[in-house]
Amino acid sequence: MPRGISHMTPICADRGVGALVVDLDGNRLLDFAGGIGTLNVGHANPDVVAAASAQLAKLTHTCFSVALYESYVALAEKLNAITPGAFPKKTMLANSGAEALENAVKIARHSTGREAVLVFEHAFHGRTLLTMSMTSKVRPYKFGFGPFAPEIYRLPYPYTYRDPIAADAAAYERTLRDFFSTHVAAEKIACLVLELVLGEGGFVVAPPEAVRAMERICKERGILLVIDEVQTGFGRTGRMFACEHYGVEPDLLTTAKSLGGGLPVSAVTGRAEIMDSAEAGGLGGTYAGNPVACAAALAAIEFLETHRLCNRAAEIGRVVEERFRCFYDRFPFIGEARGLGAMRALEIVKDRETKEPDKERTDRILRKACENGLILISAGTYGNVIRTLMPLVITDVQLQEGLEVLEHALQ
Ligand code: PLP
Repeated sequence: MPRGISHMTPICADRGVGALVVDLDGNRLLDFAGGIGTLNVGHANPDVVAAASAQLAKLTHTCFSVALYESYVALAEKLNAITPGAFPKKTMLANSGAEALENAVKIARHSTGREAVLVFEHAFHGRTLLTMSMTSKVRPYKFGFGPFAPEIYRLPYPYTYRDPIAADAAAYERTLRDFFSTHVAAEKIACLVLELVLGEGGFVVAPPEAVRAMERICKERGILLVIDEVQTGFGRTGRMFACEHYGVEPDLLTTAKSLGGGLPVSAVTGRAEIMDSAEAGGLGGTYAGNPVACAAALAAIEFLETHRLCNRAAEIGRVVEERFRCFYDRFPFIGEARGLGAMRALEIVKDRETKEPDKERTDRILRKACENGLILISAGTYGNVIRTLMPLVITDVQLQEGLEVLEHALQ
């Protein structure tokens, strides 16, 4: 395997159940990473396993562009129904988050007849040429991989902890509006692509006023609003989608990760007339919306709904938030504790005054946690953010146990 495919822990996983992973040596580990947010319904969720197994035995694949099948249609209908926006919607399926974002941009361009794409500093949208170009962080995602896709323009993210302008709603809106004079004409812009809570960028929560300003500007200028819910989606933030916290109804919404309950499937859901703009055959892919992945996704969504995992995420979030507040009071190297629902983070710094990121200490904390049986991963442009993405089926006892291990590692 090439060096570029790295792993954040030395664990070799053998099996998983709920919020637990067992490695090849039989060590039991609590999982606060959940496959980077793909396992909101837990490892080997029995409903997902049953649905995927039944589908696998019945019909493994046809390629949707050859012959359609029910699970694709059912999943598209389900996503049309549960995503925000009381307007007619359509959904197309793909394999990965990056592929969903690629397709959202293709659709936005086709529908508006415009080429430019607005993205943000600290954004992460994937590793393919277009999405790597939309992603912000240079190392390891972009360094040496250029040239990048053209017509991508980057705005400052409202990262209030590090950017004083972002904390001033009026000043931030002025920055956005100035952009059309200093960088690119508004009438050339197809879409603005936004993560309401930065994922890989460090779990920074966009302030509602900033999001409202973006929404306003998009409406005024005919720019489509694309919300990337690949990491925030399916209950993670305490609502099915982070959009619901903001009252935002995006023109296009991208999902992946926990959509498939651990199987690879992603989606673009959006206003019917926009989604319909591309010609027949212009969208798709050999494995896009594979029947087994669709069956798994339908079971995962049903499990989220029947087990009220959005409420559970909010509950987990409250427990973690309170504990993180205690950590903040106790450990001076924590610059900020933040998050939305169960998507919570600690930003580690050398000094609270200078806010200089401390990646080295962050890595030591994560290593220590792992040695003591907790899988935990970092995020952030500077690699100095500890983030929680535990399966939402985690028990109270497991949650407390994981937080104890983290506290010990911080200590
Ligand atoms: N968008 C966001 C917000 C993500 O967090 C990610 C992955 O972490 C992606 C897109 C890309 O998803 P994938 O790795 O499935 O291509």
